[in-house]
Amino acid sequence: MSTQRIVILGAGESGVGAALLAKAKGFEVFVSDKSGIAEKYEQILVENQIEYEEGKHTEEFILNAHEIIKSPGISGNVPILVEAKNRQIPIVSEIEFAARYTSAKIVAITGSNGKTTTTLLTYHLLKAAGLNVGLGGNVGESFAKQVIEDKYEYWVLEVSSFQLDDCYAFNPDIAIILNITPDHLDRYDNNFQNYVNAKFRIVQNFDKSPKDHTFIYLKDNPAIARELKRKNVAGIHLPISLSENLDNGAFFKTNLLEFYLKKEKKEAKISPDEVTLKGKHNMINVMAAVLVCLKLGIDEAILKTYFQSFPGVEHRLEEVETIGGVRYINDSKATNVDSVYYALDSFDNKIIWIAGGVDKGNDYTKIRDLVHQKVKYLICLGKDNKKLLDFFRDSVRILYQTEDIKDAVEQAQELAKPGDIILLSPACASFDLFENYEDRGRQFKKAVAKLHKLSTLKEK
Ligand code: ADP
Repeated sequence: MSTQRIVILGAGESGVGAALLAKAKGFEVFVSDKSGIAEKYEQILVENQIEYEEGKHTEEFILNAHEIIKSPGISGNVPILVEAKNRQIPIVSEIEFAARYTSAKIVAITGSNGKTTTTLLTYHLLKAAGLNVGLGGNVGESFAKQVIEDKYEYWVLEVSSFQLDDCYAFNPDIAIILNITPDHLDRYDNNFQNYVNAKFRIVQNFDKSPKDHTFIYLKDNPAIARELKRKNVAGIHLPISLSENLDNGAFFKTNLLEFYLKKEKKEAKISPDEVTLKGKHNMINVMAAVLVCLKLGIDEAILKTYFQSFPGVEHRLEEVETIGGVRYINDSKATNVDSVYYALDSFDNKIIWIAGGVDKGNDYTKIRDLVHQKVKYLICLGKDNKKLLDFFRDSVRILYQTEDIKDAVEQAQELAKPGDIILLSPACASFDLFENYEDRGRQFKKAVAKLHKLSTLKEK
């Protein structure tokens, strides 16, 4: 039989990782990227003698593939993929491909918000407990690349809906759906149900293998609850709730996180003061991570001590600085309304809210009351602020507009009183004024650092 040809579309972290794994497994490999390939990745392709093209997708090099691995950033509707589908060439994601080559236990985490935080926390706790565990998916190094060595007994993977779209046999041992709220609908024909279906692909094979599968999910989330009424998900269910006592699963109601695993006859109780993350949304993430740990046999008493060494996650409700009694919080990763809801809900103090950017179809109704209660001033940081201004004109006393983050921070400082919070939680994507959300968060921190320096100079 001739060597099978694998074509990889997209030459970022996941695509190049998939190319390396495919090469290591003896396939003929070709990588095609419609835009330019970053130097770092081009160098890896050259060093590993992997053929590639950039700035185009050449049909004759692609449509002769036995299988195509599609990077998550590429929509399934681009012409080359439509043609590949017509010719019945299988199209899979990096996760689907890589999972074929490991027999390690997989914990896979998805959701509209909280994936990265929960993935990093779960990984941190399992690693601290001494498990031989790897980290992959949307965070850090490509899963596929790491599977070449396949040296771990467990994987914690962050899995987006775009990766799940092209998963067919992927079958994690533990699957987590943190929440499902409208996001990325442009990639799902503006149909929320299509997006829900994509998320539920994480458990689509639970009934097809004799493994002891576990499904952890937020019971309070309407989309998840609705879906579970419509379909049976096999395996052991460990629901999470912020509103209900559960005798199996985890809940957070009266200032205590409680865990009950019926099958294992295990219980645990953790005070929110014992975990380093703050805010109700993070209690969901903590409960999911702790359920995984308890399920995998980690002792509750030791588990608590591991939280102390968890550094938190950059750009997610990150405490930057306190200057003159005013706390500066960087939540630049909050690019949708749901994450802003939880950010505003995390503080009892008055908030000066910096928001704005590229609106992905936001409906601000969900946060209208919270904004009215908590936000003193709204600083709009974006090229087009009309929607924010129109919506909040009546609920917020002062609205200010700027395209300069330094100016935004300075204005916020002028308006703040000791005890206030200055919160960057934009509800929008960053591409109008910044390279990405990381750039926005870093520029915010730089502006705050400058203020800090000035304030210490004044004190001297
Ligand atoms: P993701 O990887 O899914 O984008 P992150 O952990 O990067 O999630 O967090 C993205 C944003 O969502 C941050 O603003 C964060 O504070 C907020 N967030 C984190 N966890 C949750 C959750 N469980 N529910 C709602 N919002 C959350």
